[in-house]
Amino acid sequence: MAYQSIYPYTGELKKTYENQSDEYVEDKLQKADALYHEWRNQPLDGRAEILHAVADNLMKHQDELAKAMVQDMGKLFGEAKAEVALSAMIANWYADNAKDLLRPQRVYTIMGDAHYEYHSTGVIMAVEPWNFPYYQVMRVFAPNFMLGNPVMFKQASSVPTTASLLEKYTLEAGAPEGSLVNLFVTYDQIEKIIADPRVSGVALTGSERAGQKIAAEAGKYLKKSTMELGGSDPFIVLDDADLDDIKKILYMARLFNAGQECTSAKRFIVTEKNYDRFLEMLKEEFSKAKMGDPMNPKTTLAPLSSKSAADDLHQQVKDAIAHGATLAYGNLDAPTPTPNGFWMPAVILTDVTRDNPAYYQEFFGPVGVVYKVADEEEAIKLANDSHYGLGGQVFAGHSKHAAEVASKIETGAVYCNNFRGSIPELQFGGVKNSGYGRELGRAGILAFANEQMIMRNPYDKIDLNHTIGGFV
Ligand code: NAP
Repeated sequence: MAYQSIYPYTGELKKTYENQSDEYVEDKLQKADALYHEWRNQPLDGRAEILHAVADNLMKHQDELAKAMVQDMGKLFGEAKAEVALSAMIANWYADNAKDLLRPQRVYTIMGDAHYEYHSTGVIMAVEPWNFPYYQVMRVFAPNFMLGNPVMFKQASSVPTTASLLEKYTLEAGAPEGSLVNLFVTYDQIEKIIADPRVSGVALTGSERAGQKIAAEAGKYLKKSTMELGGSDPFIVLDDADLDDIKKILYMARLFNAGQECTSAKRFIVTEKNYDRFLEMLKEEFSKAKMGDPMNPKTTLAPLSSKSAADDLHQQVKDAIAHGATLAYGNLDAPTPTPNGFWMPAVILTDVTRDNPAYYQEFFGPVGVVYKVADEEEAIKLANDSHYGLGGQVFAGHSKHAAEVASKIETGAVYCNNFRGSIPELQFGGVKNSGYGRELGRAGILAFANEQMIMRNPYDKIDLNHTIGGFV
């Protein structure tokens, strides 16, 4: 497997990185494991200071880090800078809050005084995607750093420069060697790492295909795992929703990061009453998409991350149309800003029926699919008729009403009458084929913790009348 940085705007190969040997991996694993044992005996205050320094260092190098992301996967420079800032925010949040999040919890029992303590478990192997190369790694690294689990990570092979810079600036800020290890390794080497007894857990963010493979390996070696997989999130617009308000966020809802976001609004589900106006509004917003140089602040639609991503998405849209969908907006053959860039214009599909394979697929790029439904009940039914269950948004006249509808949606999160955003304190994750486990928030720091129960007899003498409950 080649770790290569290819600039999506021009298609030019910028740099190839050598794969690392088994000896290199073993050396890093030894250091990470030694650090895990050392950290077990240390309070976490020192690590909080280091994590704040990591956040500061990322911000100090924000432009360089953002440019690397532009070069590796084509993200707009402005969005790339925002991602660096969000990654620093996550680091700061866990540095500030880990102590509280990990505070022992007291439990009153008939056997005596009990409490739960939260301990580290060992080295975590993280396999991460290219679409948010810093943010995704930080979601695993920051909580585990505070808990005391070193993290080894394999980023997608298309974003090697961002992966190495993240490691470099984290270590430069004072994080000890072994606390965050970037790996340029093969799938076989990943499996060997997962099998290693020094590794206690596996975190994957990526496609269903990768999730099935990595979850199977984690299961084979009895390693705890979290799977953050794809999504086809519903964006539900009910009869009494305020369309003018919704208009403010429509572009971001689907075209942020060129639509390559797991929680993008992939299915707009609109009641009959608002359908025509909503579709016109969406077309108007999509017509503002300006493909071009990702470094130019006037560009609003970046190229896709790779040639295969662009080719596959073009084909997926053509297949959807061949099976009866209507291309309601956009032109697949629109002129492209560069001849060899990885371009996909913004398009809107309607009339995607249940017998169209596209109905159950995730479109990972600037493709909006709009569905017309009779009423709220049908909207909920359609939203739940999906193999995925990651996120979603509901818009109604009142957020209380939207929240009632949200409770009926089978996904890991729903935003009501609001824009969708990821912040450190809000947990993230899905159900169904969108995976299992949660990152961020308190759940994120407990994902790979040993939640240890300790029971203490305050009388120091065994009294079976009190302990017998434990045997039945
Ligand atoms: P991907 O092809 O599954 O790749 C994800 C990572 O898995 C990459 O590092 C990839 O490495 C690695 N990988 C794939 N197969 C592997 C195997 N057999 N053994 C070891 N590693 C393997 O996914 P992607 O195309 O990069 O990302 C897009 C998908 O991620 C979408 O479905 C999106 O919805 C989902 N996503 C989910 C979330 C979430 O939080 N739920 C967030 C972002 C993205 P290589 O690059 O070397 O193949």
